Amino acid sequence: THDIHIIGGGLAGSEAAWQLARRGFKVRLSEMRGSGEMTPAHQTDGLAELVCSNSFRSDDDTKNAVGLLHHEMRRLDSLIMRAGEVARVPAGSAMAVDRDVFSAEVQRTLAEHPNVTVIRERVDALPTSGATIVATGPLTAQSLAESIVGATGQDRLAFFDAIAPIVHHDSIDMSKCWIQSRWNKRTEASNEDGDYINCPMTKEQYLAFHQGLMDGEKTEFRDWEADTPYFDGCMPIEVMAARGVETLRYGPMKGVGLDNPFDTSEEFPQGRWPYAVVQLRQDNKLGTLWNMVGFQTKLKYGAQVELFRTIPGLENAEFARLGGLHRNTFINSPLVLDRQLRLKGGDHIRFAGQITGCEGYVESSAVGLMAGLMTAAQLAGREWAPPPRTTAFGALLSHITGDAEASTFQPMNVNFGLFPPLHDVGKKVRKEAYTNRAKADFGEWLAGMEAVPA
Ligand code: FAD
Repeated sequence: THDIHIIGGGLAGSEAAWQLARRGFKVRLSEMRGSGEMTPAHQTDGLAELVCSNSFRSDDDTKNAVGLLHHEMRRLDSLIMRAGEVARVPAGSAMAVDRDVFSAEVQRTLAEHPNVTVIRERVDALPTSGATIVATGPLTAQSLAESIVGATGQDRLAFFDAIAPIVHHDSIDMSKCWIQSRWNKRTEASNEDGDYINCPMTKEQYLAFHQGLMDGEKTEFRDWEADTPYFDGCMPIEVMAARGVETLRYGPMKGVGLDNPFDTSEEFPQGRWPYAVVQLRQDNKLGTLWNMVGFQTKLKYGAQVELFRTIPGLENAEFARLGGLHRNTFINSPLVLDRQLRLKGGDHIRFAGQITGCEGYVESSAVGLMAGLMTAAQLAGREWAPPPRTTAFGALLSHITGDAEASTFQPMNVNFGLFPPLHDVGKKVRKEAYTNRAKADFGEWLAGMEAVPA
């Protein structure tokens, strides 16, 4: 018998299991690797295997959002951070690990814990009752994915991400672009002036940009991703560009219906429509992040930054996320989960890890950690107070459970654009101000939580 069933012994599932076990709850942890099953990216049967890089990225908790997440996880005695310390290899200000030592340490800790039973089995359907955490990751087995679709609805589970770059609003040069919706169309949710930031291009600029898309270095699909479908509406921008020099001007870069206030020509029979335009749309409720509409791409990161900074207004753009296209199973969390990661309409089921629409080893582990805490509180019959959104935990959780725009929801790394903005603080010291505020607020939240034993 167990108190909680965790499906998936990756980063999130292992962390959730640890958090529950150390609070006295009996955990059944189902992991399909080791039962004759494998995902296309994993190589071993080890729990919490790192499928690609061996880095947990920056460990700087004074100026970096992922470093701050490390800090918050350590304060909650995270297993992933503990094992990371044991397996740590030199990597400057980053935290990198020996992947075999790391996975072995996670596995040993859980296997030795009297409250954890690791079972090597593939789970094919969402359990109909009993507290459950689904942490099956970006490569969730097909059968379970189908069961999730059954519970959430067909268009609420994606099998691929199609990521358009996201820009920090305060890095956009608004003296070169303007806000307006095409044909000034509005909905009830619209902002008064319009919903898009428009970056206009002359013919010359457009042709150079088109050439840049054609020439830029692209990332190849992995073998097992080669059948990636290009769905309507998320074709990579360079694939569209390759169809003809005008294709983008009739697609995401069309200038029609937009009145360019920077156009000083005397005559404009059709209106002051720009030759071409790059549009950005608000990506989070805070208004700190804006995505480049239609710009999902497989250009290499360096090539993206170089080319996208030639767009008028984006010369100094800071990217919260660069574009990409990968196989990636994730649910539309803002629509299907409540604020405590529970499935709406099936609240014995909680989701954790990358399947919730966070992105990255550390983020997945952090969401696993929070799912563990939430479940522990629920099993103990206590209310769970969410961490303030000024903390890295709170910012990430708020984003995936409601602050992100559901219609464009795509996996997201932690970054300061998810935090309530500190506009009054000078840019040079702003990152430190974010982390200082976070640490103080996190400490207060933690003290409140620890005051109530699980
Ligand atoms: P996982 O760690 O994948 O764990 C999910 C577990 O569930 C797996 O062990 C799987 O075997 C198991 N499982 C799946 N279905 C079932 C089932 N039906 N029954 C039982 N068990 C099941 N992030 C980075 O920060 N850096 C990187 O370099 C990086 N590279 C990546 C490369 C690839 C190819 C992919 C796909 C993702 C990458 N990520 C990377 C993103 C992400 O952070 C990792 O995938 C991370 O492992 C996600 O953690 P998770 O716990 O959500 O899922």
